[in-house]
Amino acid sequence: MQKVDYIIVGGGYAGIFFAHQLLTAGKSFKLFAGGAQGASHVSAGVVNPVVLKKFTTFWLAQEQINCLKMTITEMESYTGKQFHIDEPVCRIFHDDNEKKLWEKKQATDALSPFLSLEFTKLDVVNNEYGIGTVLQSGRLDVQSFFSSLSEFLNENGNLKHEIFDYKLLDAGSSVYMNLEYSKIIFCEGMGVLKNPFFCQLPVQANKGHHLKVKLSSELNISATLKKKHFLFSLRDGNYYYGGTYDRHQLDEGINPSAVEELESGLKQMYPHEYLTTEINYGFRPTVGDRRPILGAHETYKNMYVFNGLGARGILNGSYFAKVLFQHTESGSPLPAEVDLKRFTVR
Ligand SMILES: Cc1cc2nc3c(=O)[nH]c(=O)nc-3n(C[C@H](O)[C@H](O)[C@H](O)COP(=O)(O)OP(=O)(O)OC[C@H]3O[C@@H](n4cnc5c(N)ncnc54)[C@H](O)[C@@H]3O)c2cc1C
Repeated sequence: MQKVDYIIVGGGYAGIFFAHQLLTAGKSFKLFAGGAQGASHVSAGVVNPVVLKKFTTFWLAQEQINCLKMTITEMESYTGKQFHIDEPVCRIFHDDNEKKLWEKKQATDALSPFLSLEFTKLDVVNNEYGIGTVLQSGRLDVQSFFSSLSEFLNENGNLKHEIFDYKLLDAGSSVYMNLEYSKIIFCEGMGVLKNPFFCQLPVQANKGHHLKVKLSSELNISATLKKKHFLFSLRDGNYYYGGTYDRHQLDEGINPSAVEELESGLKQMYPHEYLTTEINYGFRPTVGDRRPILGAHETYKNMYVFNGLGARGILNGSYFAKVLFQHTESGSPLPAEVDLKRFTVR
């Protein structure tokens, strides 16, 4: 029997950011990453502290940005790879009113750290009302992030390319097959619905599609453009365009209505020819109150869930992995807003 401090189930943002906490604290662990790739692998990788519909910000945005910066620096240091892309999010205004709203919001304490008052114009996309830049925004190279971290964990003997089989878990004895663990953290995204210990949690899928496209005229800018959806250059000659939001069509497979929405959005923004080379989709694990879910099982106190990262898997993932780790190791109380208990105790 091998003893480990932790088992992590799931290798998306939740699992990988929690693994980072364990790596930096010198804990022993195994991370189970099996089955189909989840939402994280199809995500855009955008890091953005502003809600771009109404130009508002969200709970702990600055703290989350600061935490992510530190986390990525540490990850890049031990993997020896670079996956942070220092390209800001640039919001194309739909009309003059939006630009005025941006200016008004920029003058507030909450938004001034995030909204630039310098407006840009570009040749190759439709932007007659101009473009505003989101300060402190950026992007992860998603492909490189996951391949670098997987490689590192694999080399260190932390990674198991296996589906975790709940039937083989003896939760009372804290044993899974030949592993005896001190704590187990479930980070399965929408896979949580198959987890017999946490399947009652109100995690709902929000399906997102994105396109990979080849553009006939290159954008030649170092930014993530956003009008209806995000558009940016990937390193393989393609551009990423997405993603959609859908709470209703939750079947496996590509939904034509989502593809139509993306094509119409891209045409509004980019008036030249393009070729769609790939269509992908994933299921964001969301919660009605838009907060992640963290905490221990009612019966098995060394069994935890880390889920509900929603549309902001990167910021929520890095920040709340740290919060959860401080809780599992030092017993620091969880903020009530994210505590699993909000669904069991009133
Ligand atoms: C189209 C799209 C674009 C997005 N863009 C962004 C963006 O730009 N920025 C951003 O911050 N967020 C973005 N998101 C949201 C983000 O992707 C999610 O918040 C995030 O992926 C959730 O991470 P997770 O680790 O909880 O779940 P997942 O990424 O779904 O990972 C869970 C993993 O657990 C595995 N798993 C489940 N059960 C088991 C088991 N029994 N054994 C082993 N493994 C198991 C699954 O196979 C999966 O790989 C986007 C989402 C979509 C769909």
